[in-house]
Amino acid sequence: MAIIDVKNLSLGFDCECGLRQALFDVSFKLEKGKMLALVGESGCGKTMTAMSILKLLPKSARVLGGEILYDGKDILKLSSRQLQDIRGAKIALIPQDPMTSLNPLYTVGNQLLEVIKIHQGLSGDSAYEKAVEALDMVQIPCARERMSAYPHEFSGGMKQRAIIAMALACNAEVIIADEPTTALDVTIQAQIMNLLNEIKKETDTSILLITHDLALVSENADNVAVMYAGRIVERASAEEFFLNPKHPYTLALLKSLPSNYGEKLETIFGQPPSIQQDISGCRFHPRCARCMDICKKQIPQEFMVGSGHFSACFLN
Ligand code: SF4
Repeated sequence: MAIIDVKNLSLGFDCECGLRQALFDVSFKLEKGKMLALVGESGCGKTMTAMSILKLLPKSARVLGGEILYDGKDILKLSSRQLQDIRGAKIALIPQDPMTSLNPLYTVGNQLLEVIKIHQGLSGDSAYEKAVEALDMVQIPCARERMSAYPHEFSGGMKQRAIIAMALACNAEVIIADEPTTALDVTIQAQIMNLLNEIKKETDTSILLITHDLALVSENADNVAVMYAGRIVERASAEEFFLNPKHPYTLALLKSLPSNYGEKLETIFGQPPSIQQDISGCRFHPRCARCMDICKKQIPQEFMVGSGHFSACFLN
């Protein structure tokens, strides 16, 4: 069952040169209790898609079409009051840099208590115990004592755990993790991903993992959606995706991953387009080694290439 259903989301920005489109008919489903990885290079629209789900978009952004269904309601049509009940409480965000979410002037405990008060309506001892329990769940050592610590007294990994604790304390049904381990070293990265996986299993939380790291995806995700220049180009279960990748962009991405030590890595020639560039037809065609005439003129729709496996390419 899909807890978040993004349907044909198109989004643009008002720039000095007029409206520039950044997302093109983006569609995917986040299933309950599963981890969906939204994968792509920097600037491809992953974060903008995630921010649309929280309706936390810059002022210049304009939704051009589509819907984002959560619990059967279109998030894009909710009032600010209705959104307050969802953001943080039902759908929580784990950002790339936890320092942008933790206030350095307040203790970690105070910030957790504030979130619990707003979203759970708890106060006093019951709120305090809930906060300690949440820190415990994310394996912060000596959780009770750490309640009075300030963010600067936490390591990078502990700060990220504290943010995850906030999502847990609110019983969030969906966690959007935007490159949650980018700022962390490899060992801590693995610990944070293990923690997210445990939370997913134990609490049936659904996780949207935004990442450019395919190794992280192969180890953790249940499902994968690949984005290129604002469009989803391939969707599948993680197993099917790595066994039987179809889209030329996906194939190129996978070839650029190190597999054997000493092996020369392949690169994708050219650069992803900027939002200012108009591209006709398939958005990947200027970089695609298998580009045909039709690719420059027509937009390839999604073709079913396997069970639950879709690829937006004329070759399929
Ligand atoms: Fe390449 Fe054409 Fe497929 Fe686009 S539609 S990925 S240009 S073969």
